[in-house]
Amino acid sequence: MSLSINEAAGVVKTGKYINYIDGEWKEPLTGKYRPVINPANGEVLGEVAQSSAVDVDLAVAAAVKAQKEWRLVPAPERAEYLFTVGRLLKEQKENLARMITSEMGKVIEEARGEVQEAIDMAHYMAGEGRRMFGETMPSELRNKFAMSIRVPVGVVGLITPWNFPIAIASWKSLPALVTGNALVWKPSPDTPIVAEAFVKIYEQAGLPKGLINLVQGSGPEAGAALVEHPDIDLIGFTGSNAVGKKINERAGALLKRTSLEMGGKNAIIVMDDANLDLAVESIIWSGFGTTGQRCTAASRVIVHEAVKQKLEAQLIDAVCHLKLGDGQDESTDVGPVINQAALEKIDKYVRIGISEGATLLCGGKLAEGVGNGKGYYYEPTIFTDVKPDMTIAKEEIFGPVLSIISTKDFETAIKVNNEVSFGLSSSIFTSDVNRVFQAMRDLDTGIVYINAGTTGAEIHLPFGGTKETGNGHRDSGVAALDVYTEWRAVYVDYSNTLQRAQIDTNTK
Ligand code: NAD
Repeated sequence: MSLSINEAAGVVKTGKYINYIDGEWKEPLTGKYRPVINPANGEVLGEVAQSSAVDVDLAVAAAVKAQKEWRLVPAPERAEYLFTVGRLLKEQKENLARMITSEMGKVIEEARGEVQEAIDMAHYMAGEGRRMFGETMPSELRNKFAMSIRVPVGVVGLITPWNFPIAIASWKSLPALVTGNALVWKPSPDTPIVAEAFVKIYEQAGLPKGLINLVQGSGPEAGAALVEHPDIDLIGFTGSNAVGKKINERAGALLKRTSLEMGGKNAIIVMDDANLDLAVESIIWSGFGTTGQRCTAASRVIVHEAVKQKLEAQLIDAVCHLKLGDGQDESTDVGPVINQAALEKIDKYVRIGISEGATLLCGGKLAEGVGNGKGYYYEPTIFTDVKPDMTIAKEEIFGPVLSIISTKDFETAIKVNNEVSFGLSSSIFTSDVNRVFQAMRDLDTGIVYINAGTTGAEIHLPFGGTKETGNGHRDSGVAALDVYTEWRAVYVDYSNTLQRAQIDTNTK
């Protein structure tokens, strides 16, 4: 184990990022590693273990053993560990934020916000230790008591992406643990450093060994092995659609539960009666915050034709003032994208947009001369005259690229919002209360914002999407308990006679 942080500056020093299995830090049995790169400047931050199925086997065995005892620990007692995790996260907030920025590039203010999300989640889920409500209901028979209670699913495999390396891990690990499960976590190989730091916080909190196990490595090897493992009861996954579908197919064949949070193609609708200044600020924040690499990032703006020109002029002006650079610098507005492959993918979509006839308003190329020239920077890009059937209006780009689509009325705006295959987040700017309520009813996404951009979810509300964004489950909020628990129906018959439901009743 090798995490070494300069406490004052929060700088990550190079080291090896390895596995945590049954309460011990262990090198991968493969002996293989790959480098971890700072996307802001190409600096090598260390190397991450490339684990295989054998490492996964050890981790799952530890989790199975630990869960047998953990499920019997009263939930309020389990919650005490979560309160401690919350406190430790708070104490280490700045260092964790610095790590996130070094590892995946988001600007430091957003990285602090991300750690805050994990802190909030720890406190919220610790509270569930004293709620976790079941229900009681009347029985149809005399002298019989009926209730439903929650029981843990068992051993959970968590597979997470790089764009929210601690927040997403907290949305999944905290509800899983408070409800009595044990877990094996495979984070993204792009963000092993903060993953290790988060597990060290669980370790510092005194969580019994074997309950949280960390297996660092690639998706196709360590991730796939987790999905295959017969003792994994549930896969909690956040990531791309391509991978989510693959996991779902395999887990489906093995009859495993899955909770999948996947891609988005989120839109902000701007009506002719909108507060345009507010809409512009929100579009910039939702479109270019985290360099457009949030699953809820706005990638489409559906604007009423009456205000289109004015909105475009204001957006171009606002984009000119965005400062690109290393997110560690407090004055940076837009950081790098995650890696070279992402840079190439974004540029490919921009070329497709141009070739399909969209008009480039600004950006449209790799940003040159930023920092030491070794980072992965793309100019914030805005297309206009985009038609809903163009590739850039339908597929997830996951970068700083916005497409403006013109609409003649409210009904068409809703239709355009809804006709993509994803359904994560949507937003509308309008001052018409009737349209507000119609939008709440008709926008078919898991999250809807009124007079705010598409980002900014709070942890006590359900998070997730419709259609190809998810498979019906939700992270965070009380809804997360439904992912990590099974409902058990319990009947207590205190009549001392055989009573037959549906037969010996007076309700026939
Ligand atoms: P990704 O799908 O490439 O990887 C996600 C995780 O899956 C990683 O840990 C990866 O190693 C693992 N993986 C890859 N192949 C695998 C396989 N064959 N079997 C098992 N695991 C495998 O996604 P990413 O690039 O890390 O993240 C970006 C994507 O995540 C975007 O599509 C974004 O929209 C999505 N995302 C969604 C949400 C949400 O809540 N809906 C939140 C954040 C990110």
